[in-house]
Amino acid sequence: MSLRKVYLVFVLFVVFVGQSDAQIVFRGGGCIGPCRDAMCCDQRITLNPSGVGFARDFNCKRFMENASAQDRAYICKQLRTQGAPCCSILPFCDNNCREVLAPNPNAKMLFDGLSAGLVKGHGPLTPAQKLAISKFLSNCEAEKLLNELSTMPCPKDWNAPPDCTMGSYLKFKLQFRDRVPGDLEAGSVSPDVHFSNPREGERDREASKKFPYTVSVTNQTDGTARELHAFPAPNDMCFSYTFFDGSSEMATTIYHELLHIWWMNKYQTDLHDSGHGTDLYQCSNYKPFFAEKLRDFYRVMDDLEMCLKTNPVP
Ligand SMILES: [Zn+2]
Repeated sequence: MSLRKVYLVFVLFVVFVGQSDAQIVFRGGGCIGPCRDAMCCDQRITLNPSGVGFARDFNCKRFMENASAQDRAYICKQLRTQGAPCCSILPFCDNNCREVLAPNPNAKMLFDGLSAGLVKGHGPLTPAQKLAISKFLSNCEAEKLLNELSTMPCPKDWNAPPDCTMGSYLKFKLQFRDRVPGDLEAGSVSPDVHFSNPREGERDREASKKFPYTVSVTNQTDGTARELHAFPAPNDMCFSYTFFDGSSEMATTIYHELLHIWWMNKYQTDLHDSGHGTDLYQCSNYKPFFAEKLRDFYRVMDDLEMCLKTNPVP
């Protein structure tokens, strides 16, 4: 081997080893030395107060994988302060699961604005049902969906004022129900149509009182880690997931049904085009964007449950 080749091998080795080091990613954004700021979970965070510039290709998850406990806590604190303890970095915010489970303040506010409460005659929520709502509200994917539902512009053919948003109309009542033998559905939404143009003079919150959606969630018991968890069915998987608590399953059902409400109103459709068809156990039955949004939510539920299981709340 010539000296030149030895040198080349050495350079390749350094590059290869360097790729697994968070510091390389850290410096990869064109900053001279450590970068000052970067984006993490859609939030601008400070990596190093004495650094310079903005890390443009910063990979927050990879950074957290390699960061010290002190650095992790520093990033987690910033994200929590900004109301975004979310997404792929959640498992790294360890020892803070109690805080992680606290509702994202913005998601809670949006949820309260859209919620018309529990259906009439509903009993008090069980601990598992309460936990399902907390898990739903704790993450950024729910916040994104609730924000879209609240701020969606009213359809053009309503000829409504430009500031008309569907958040004034899209109210929903929630109910948890026992599983009906033979009915495998984890949830449903009714009516399964978009909100129709309110009559002239009704363009206010009163109109929505006549049309609250009912989001029904089937009670789920805890599963086990050994089961294969797949969506929509083990023999036709769009994707698999790892969470198995009943409360996590119910949280995904709340998300799923609200996603139907979003879809039907966004595209002015009904049951026949609500994000998926009636062949529930076929992957091809799901519209790609609907499946993609579900996949995003399943990922954060995976992360949340992993966080809670590895750092039990005392
Ligand atoms: Zn559905």
